[in-house]
Amino acid sequence: MVPVTAPPIPDGAVWISGHQIRAVGPWSEIREIGQVAAGPVTDLGDVAVFPGLINAHCHLDYTAMTGLLTPPREFPDWIKGILTLKSQWTDSEFEASWLLGARQQLQTGTTTVANIETRAHQLAGLRASTPLRVFSFLEMTGIRSGHEPERILAEAMDVLKSLPPNRGGVGLSPHAPYSTSPELLRAVATIARHEGWRVTCHVAESEPEFDMFMYRRGSLFSWLENQRPHGDCGLGSPLQHVHRHGLLDSPLLAVHVNCLWGDDARRLAARGASVVHCPRSHAYFGHPRFQREVLTEAGVPICIGTDSLASTKATREGPPILSLIDELRTLAADDPGLSPRRMLAEVTVNPARALGLKSVMGELRTGALADVLVIPHAGPVATVEEALIQHRGPVTATMIGGRWEWIAPGGIAGFPASVSNP
Ligand SMILES: [Zn+2]
Repeated sequence: MVPVTAPPIPDGAVWISGHQIRAVGPWSEIREIGQVAAGPVTDLGDVAVFPGLINAHCHLDYTAMTGLLTPPREFPDWIKGILTLKSQWTDSEFEASWLLGARQQLQTGTTTVANIETRAHQLAGLRASTPLRVFSFLEMTGIRSGHEPERILAEAMDVLKSLPPNRGGVGLSPHAPYSTSPELLRAVATIARHEGWRVTCHVAESEPEFDMFMYRRGSLFSWLENQRPHGDCGLGSPLQHVHRHGLLDSPLLAVHVNCLWGDDARRLAARGASVVHCPRSHAYFGHPRFQREVLTEAGVPICIGTDSLASTKATREGPPILSLIDELRTLAADDPGLSPRRMLAEVTVNPARALGLKSVMGELRTGALADVLVIPHAGPVATVEEALIQHRGPVTATMIGGRWEWIAPGGIAGFPASVSNP
């Protein structure tokens, strides 16, 4: 058992009742609890059990775009490419792609996804089709549509408030500083505060974005010059821009943040923001080096996200799948000094906190949701976090809210065969 907020427990057990964890500890102690002894008890054999992973940034609907866009010379070229691709896709293609991504997440041990949603009219059906806890952040731009911020936000509110409740939640995602107006950012900040919703935004992802806001120059500035008023450029860094327009007023999930300037990191820390790093997407674009040390020193929690497979390269092993474990392996290769324990926190407790769910998910503890992943492990307990990072392909099993939602074929002897693998 790997509780994450406590040392790993050899020969451990977790007592689950309903959708919650009732106790975690050595089997020798847990079996003494009267209600546990009354059963049923499942011996999982030589495995390691972790809390289900939390993906802090994802675009499920782009999963089937794997390999369709080559890494661009200039960042705006990729945006033009995906806009063209999206304009050619049908509703059913987007639906199949979103559901494929959800299945890949489940099969690789992710139980909660902070997802950027672009298919407002399909969203209720999509969310109902997966057991994942999906936190749907509705994407808003406004630059291309030319719609007024009030209208964009009113439409978003209608969509989010009409969604049937499910295991996840909802939030708002103004896409990025360059694709939104300052008025929209301010309106989002006001509504998010009022509704108690989280906000996520791609910020300071690329050098062209940094140059646009800092210096009024570069490829993004030139491309958008006739598409948006540029009066908000040349006033400071992209992070200063989102701060100026209220996005740091409530805890922001700031995605990418590859270009820092001045006291940007301290600004994020002071406002309780989290930064989401997406290792494989970062490598695909060749962005400036992620400034983990600066952010950490300032006290900004870091979370890991998959971003989308439209910006993930294939490897020698084949086409990529949406997997946080694969992101961790890329991260470990990029930064060999990072401890496995710290990386594990970035896919569990840190994103739980960023979503406002500290102690509720991302750890194995009494009272937390019974979301777990299982991998084979017969080695010493000291190597168990490393074993997760080196795990390839589907996990043995994934449980969400006390139900097994994925069991690999031939997964665990004696497992109930009733799980219908979605
Ligand atoms: Zn993204």
